[in-house]
Amino acid sequence: MATDNQRIYLDYNATAPIFPDVVQAVSQALGNLGNASSIHTEGRSVRGAIEDARDSVSKLIGVPASTIVFSSGGTEANTTVIRGLINSGAVHEIFCSAIEHPSVRDHVNPEHHIPVDNRGQIDLEQLHNILRGQEAPFLMCVMLANNETGVLQPIRDVSTLVHERGGLVLCDCVQGPGKSDLDFISLGADFLTFSAHKIGGPQGIGCIVMNSNSELEPILIGGGQEKERRSGTENAPGIVGFGAAARLTAETSNVGKVSELRDQLEAALLEAKSDAIIFGREGERIANTTNVAILGTSSERQLIKLDLAGFAVSAGSACSSGKIAPSHVLLAMGVSEEIAGSAIRISIGRETSWSELEKFVEIWATL
Ligand code: PLP
Repeated sequence: MATDNQRIYLDYNATAPIFPDVVQAVSQALGNLGNASSIHTEGRSVRGAIEDARDSVSKLIGVPASTIVFSSGGTEANTTVIRGLINSGAVHEIFCSAIEHPSVRDHVNPEHHIPVDNRGQIDLEQLHNILRGQEAPFLMCVMLANNETGVLQPIRDVSTLVHERGGLVLCDCVQGPGKSDLDFISLGADFLTFSAHKIGGPQGIGCIVMNSNSELEPILIGGGQEKERRSGTENAPGIVGFGAAARLTAETSNVGKVSELRDQLEAALLEAKSDAIIFGREGERIANTTNVAILGTSSERQLIKLDLAGFAVSAGSACSSGKIAPSHVLLAMGVSEEIAGSAIRISIGRETSWSELEKFVEIWATL
């Protein structure tokens, strides 16, 4: 996607460009008077818009609309499930894969982080061994696709293993929709979480799919909205935007085309620099993500040079000093600090063209 000043946006996993029709839907909803909890005509109209959006989101995900609880995004959705299950006493212990997003990983004792192999997939044998001795009710959190490498996790196998031990599964599916053709519900997870801004919707809205009757103690207490699961006046414009983005994603996403472009990009990167390392290529990935290291040039240096040349990409995670820390995901895959510290993530999407990627490779090759 070339933005107005000819910048090229290759950071869809951070946030995807909002669909113009979503901007229109949100701005229209912003102008609508009424609180969805009010029984008068205005309130009922806002309620109707929210329920239409719930229906659209449920269709994209492939679940009954009644299982969807809106939240302020993926972070709140993950937190609601984890804290909610702990606080209700439904689970006593939490485990997660070592490569989860911080909104999951930082809730979990590091001793309960399950390793991944060098392809970036959770080690099922280790999981099996760790869960064998597990007595107390527990929650296992594993993401559908890693945001940094795009590597897909064997969720069905994890769900089977965990359910055999009487545990529950939270699957962070934030990076899934529009980037894979997976059937989310067949993953067997008890809770699934999503975020609108990763699919061309507004930032600050997401949802949980409750595929379990387990008791969740709400983390937000108040007016009892969202069937007592998430109090607070609904973010009606955000929800309407999420619904519109879900409809557009269902209608327009072309996973095959995006993965072809990504493969073409990776071939060109390796042709330009044969010693470049692309992570997670051996396993199954979502369609749009490439994580690549060039030895001897730090991620930060690459990012700055690329930014100056007009390209938006990302790397690792920025810490409070503004420095980029090597990615915990790559480190968990057994990559050395030095190599992890020279990796960048390129994530493409519906508006990316081959000519943009060609320009990118040309500049990248000079770094
Ligand atoms: N989970 C994953 C895998 C993510 O990539 C992100 C965002 O980058 C989140 C959760 C958090 O979502 P949000 O930005 O909606 O809070």
